[in-house]
Amino acid sequence: MGEQLRIGIVSDIHGNLEALTTALKSLEKRRVEKLYCLGDVVGYGANPSECLGLTRERAEIILLGNHDAAAAGKESLEYFNPYAREAAIWTQRILDRDQREFLAGLPYEEIRGEMHLVHSAPERPQEWDYLFSAFDAYDQFPHVKGRDCFVGHSHVPGEYCEGREETSRRIINVGSVGQPRDGDPRLCYVIYDDESRELEFVREEYDMETAAHKIIEAGLPRFLAQRLFYGQ
Ligand code: ZN
Repeated sequence: MGEQLRIGIVSDIHGNLEALTTALKSLEKRRVEKLYCLGDVVGYGANPSECLGLTRERAEIILLGNHDAAAAGKESLEYFNPYAREAAIWTQRILDRDQREFLAGLPYEEIRGEMHLVHSAPERPQEWDYLFSAFDAYDQFPHVKGRDCFVGHSHVPGEYCEGREETSRRIINVGSVGQPRDGDPRLCYVIYDDESRELEFVREEYDMETAAHKIIEAGLPRFLAQRLFYGQ
């Protein structure tokens, strides 16, 4: 213990194999020693199986996201918008039983030292609340276990601090690998140094033409292909 580690944290891959393989190469190049995934490996994109296979191979932790829960048949599709619902039903059909069972068994949160990892928000992980802003993050700080809480889910990267001291708690939204929504279509992930608490938000171009083409070929909603180019 006490060893300094560079940890890669990815989230919201959403079946986008082109984005995931580019992110994995980028992580390797940056000599990241461990990989954690905050969930939503599947849903929206055309390669849920392949993305799940690769993530299971590489990531030491995989959390449950709401799209994973939906694909596993664990979550009602009632609150999904029509595009997400159609993609979830398609994904359920594509995944095999072992994959659905694997997803169904994933945890909502994990704690590693000073790191609290959760897909949505630390207060009620199973309610799938969204953190978009400092205002949203404010109420969540008392529920952070450890110093740094890492979330995904909103697909909008950001860093929120509770105070100004160097030891203040933080909530870090790592953004999305497979479907960024902050207006920047490049994939997004975070590298964290678990000793210095230093953060790096990494953005990379990937082959979004191929990812979008596959979505259309698969018969998934066209909008899911188009939004990749806008990062929305
Ligand atoms: Zn997501």
